[in-house]
Amino acid sequence: MPEPSASGGQPIASTAHTGATIAAGAPKPTALVPERTPAELEQARRYARIELMTTLADQALDLVYLGTMALVVAVPLSRWLGGSIASDTLRLIALYAITLLGHELVSFPLSFYDGHIVEHRFGFSTLTLVGWLKRHLLSFALAAGLGLAMFVGLFWIIWLCGAWWWLIAAGAFFVVSVLLSQLVPVLVVPLFYKVDRLELPALSERLARLTAGTGLSIEGVYRLKLSDETTKANAMLAGLGHTRRVLLGDTLLDSFTLDELEVIFAHEIGHHVHRHIPKMLATGVLYSAAGFWCCDRLLAWWVTAHYGRFDYATLPVAALPLLMFSLTAFFLLLAPLQNAISRRYERQCDRYALARTGLREAYLSAFRKLERLNKGDPDPHPLEVIWLHSHPPIAERLAMALEPATAD
Ligand SMILES: [Zn+2]
Repeated sequence: MPEPSASGGQPIASTAHTGATIAAGAPKPTALVPERTPAELEQARRYARIELMTTLADQALDLVYLGTMALVVAVPLSRWLGGSIASDTLRLIALYAITLLGHELVSFPLSFYDGHIVEHRFGFSTLTLVGWLKRHLLSFALAAGLGLAMFVGLFWIIWLCGAWWWLIAAGAFFVVSVLLSQLVPVLVVPLFYKVDRLELPALSERLARLTAGTGLSIEGVYRLKLSDETTKANAMLAGLGHTRRVLLGDTLLDSFTLDELEVIFAHEIGHHVHRHIPKMLATGVLYSAAGFWCCDRLLAWWVTAHYGRFDYATLPVAALPLLMFSLTAFFLLLAPLQNAISRRYERQCDRYALARTGLREAYLSAFRKLERLNKGDPDPHPLEVIWLHSHPPIAERLAMALEPATAD
């Protein structure tokens, strides 16, 4: 399903495979972290294979389900709804609810397998079945609310603005992205994780030194209780303006040294120094304008084929599943480009972290710990990286630290 790509934050590692932790204990010397054993590598490969299969299956399922809804079910279903609901907006809401519930029904087994069974099998999940179900329901409710507002909003923009709706919708999408970037860390993250302000003078002092002169103002550094959900580690710079903050997973804080934490924090500062968040918001406007324009052409073709004529002011409610399908397909096809840009940003930040801190050993040990904790795939297929990975493979991030610096 299409998700508004508001940048809630910039994790150190892709959520699919890796993350980063930061230890809040007493300063420890940076121990040399050994390479993974053959057994650990094999387990990581097995995990990566399953994750790849479930992700691809999920993407295929989305396309097949939404395609069927759009091309086969939408017109008769909308006509049937029209028998009891006269208002276009109410019929739109009903059609959205049915489409979404149907999607949940067909995709739930895969979500459960991937999110609960596999995560337990590989020793990541710390959730009970009830705990997982609660989280799944909460995510579903949030996505449903946001999606409903988005699609009803899009229909109203089309009905009222006519041929230029796609440009106006891209502007609205930008405003919503900025708002979400500000609100997600304050309103949404605490719904899933306990968040506490981190009081750790030794770390704060280092972080203050790193931010000095970068113009970055951070509202605070927070400990994110990731361990309620997983043993995986991660850290991120989240928020915008007054809500900009650094979130460090407790899984990271508990096993990383101060030097390693400093490197990871410097990586997050790199995102600010290279202005990645405004750049992502700006490219988001371009992507959404292009995506909405493609929807415009598809809608014109589909409505003309079914109803004989196409008029924006009377766009039939039955076009909703087609709009959902087109946006899903568009962003799926765009993913390789978005991922390539994201990986480039991550490499910039890795270089920045190394140059800024000069802590090469800590950088290496931090990423070795990350790949071990998160069972990162040691050698993902290049096509998989292109299609799915927002972060470079950890092996590449480690190798970078061992090479002479190059400009990016
Ligand atoms: Zn990053």
